[in-house]
Amino acid sequence: MTYDLQPAGSHYIDGAYVDDTAGAEIPVIFAATGARIATLHAATPAIVEQALAAAEKAQADWAKLSPRERGRVLTRAAQIMRERNYDLSVLETYDTGKPLQETLVADATSGADALEYFGGLAASLTGEHIPLGEDWVYTIREPLGVCVGIGAWNYPTQIACWKAAPALACGNAMVFKPSETTPLCALKVAEILTEAGAPAGLFNVVQGMGEVGASLVTDPRVAKVSLTGSVPTGRKVYAAAADGMKHVTMELGGKSPMLVFDDADIDNAVGGAILGNFYSSGQICSNGTRVFVQKGIKEAFLARLSERLKGAVIGDPLDEATSFGPMVSEQQMTIVQGFIEKGVAEGARLVTGGKRLDRDGWYLEPTVFADVTDDMTIAREEIFGPVMSVLDFDTEEEAITRANATEYGLAAGVFTADLSRGHRVIGKLKAGSCFINSYNDAPVEAPFGGVKMSGVGRENSKAAIEHWSQMKSVYVRMGDVEAPF
Ligand code: NDP
Repeated sequence: MTYDLQPAGSHYIDGAYVDDTAGAEIPVIFAATGARIATLHAATPAIVEQALAAAEKAQADWAKLSPRERGRVLTRAAQIMRERNYDLSVLETYDTGKPLQETLVADATSGADALEYFGGLAASLTGEHIPLGEDWVYTIREPLGVCVGIGAWNYPTQIACWKAAPALACGNAMVFKPSETTPLCALKVAEILTEAGAPAGLFNVVQGMGEVGASLVTDPRVAKVSLTGSVPTGRKVYAAAADGMKHVTMELGGKSPMLVFDDADIDNAVGGAILGNFYSSGQICSNGTRVFVQKGIKEAFLARLSERLKGAVIGDPLDEATSFGPMVSEQQMTIVQGFIEKGVAEGARLVTGGKRLDRDGWYLEPTVFADVTDDMTIAREEIFGPVMSVLDFDTEEEAITRANATEYGLAAGVFTADLSRGHRVIGKLKAGSCFINSYNDAPVEAPFGGVKMSGVGRENSKAAIEHWSQMKSVYVRMGDVEAPF
């Protein structure tokens, strides 16, 4: 990798790295070894002020460009990201601990997809003409202004791009705050946008903990807040944004169901369950962590799953042969260990895994519990780690009712050979991102987001445009104005 792990500054503001060592220290730890690889500083109020002022200034000029010119900057950034995919992937692996085997295909590439997609869409974003006899109304799609993005730690490059790309395409500027656990990747996104021609101040990155995020959310210059994070944080951020009547997008947690019917292709269902529970060591919001398996194939499913899990290559995430890496942090590992203990204590059957690996870093084994019941903690709460709960069911109706019995509604999947059943069941599941005979695909062309406590608004696809722009309507009268007096 050609990048230094220690960035030239903690923050990226107005087109350049800056620092203020008065801010609290943020150590960056490589999850595979526990070693400190960089040290950054949280933004002080002065840094936050610089970032917001730079964004406000840049936004005014950016909005005046033709959308095609804006789009060109984004597509150029996408191209640079693809050219540097290897280095960006190694950096993502250092930032998160995720295996290079994954980061090479799922992070900078997904970020580039978003930049390319919204860059391409920019020029076609228009209003409409609404005829009213002689008079008419026309609408203008306008940017919101200065927007704030706040990210979780599991996909630092992707989250920054999924927010920045539609925001900038619509003519907004952004101040982005990464998770303090993974502060490195968003800085590279900022650098690349500058290199691609984005004006200074258009996309700024400020580091810090929750209070830095909170200070951004409450600033009166900010028109919109897009958060990827947990439900408790979402509640706070949504409430703070509501006070200023700001637009929000909330991409929050989940406890998503995956329904496997007797007629399903077992290997595909097992593959879906593996992807939906163990990719990124289970640290994915849309994971199908409640795997409901119809009783007729339950033991066959578990046997095949255990067999395939033996193929997991657990080890150094920088080795491309590794397919399963560490948890992002010691803290997250400890949280997940607590859930595993609860699973055992509450009577679930531990089929495989459950232990921490005897090596440096924050490694947990891929863990499967069977005979899980709906009331167990591991079936109700989001774990955000490599822990799959297998529950069994008899009938379609029962599975649907139990799958929906959660406050969350991010994703849902169905495995069945009966396509009518697949569509019928998906139609009844209360979730935003659904899959039939697949799991966790998230192409930029498809809307992504949740219902119920899992969120508000949608990322990706044309649907995102509605959340990053607003409509002005203009009534045009051709005749005289008739007034009562
Ligand atoms: P958190 O909710 O803990 O944090 C998310 C971000 O919000 C972090 O940058 C955090 O800062 C910041 N933050 C915390 N408190 C505040 C506040 N009061 N005001 C403003 N910002 C604040 O989530 P995690 O980082 O632990 O990520 C895991 C969670 O994210 C899981 O619940 C997961 O399901 C969800 N997630 C959802 C996704 C989706 O698209 N639906 C995708 C990925 C994850 P800091 O942590 O630095 O203190």
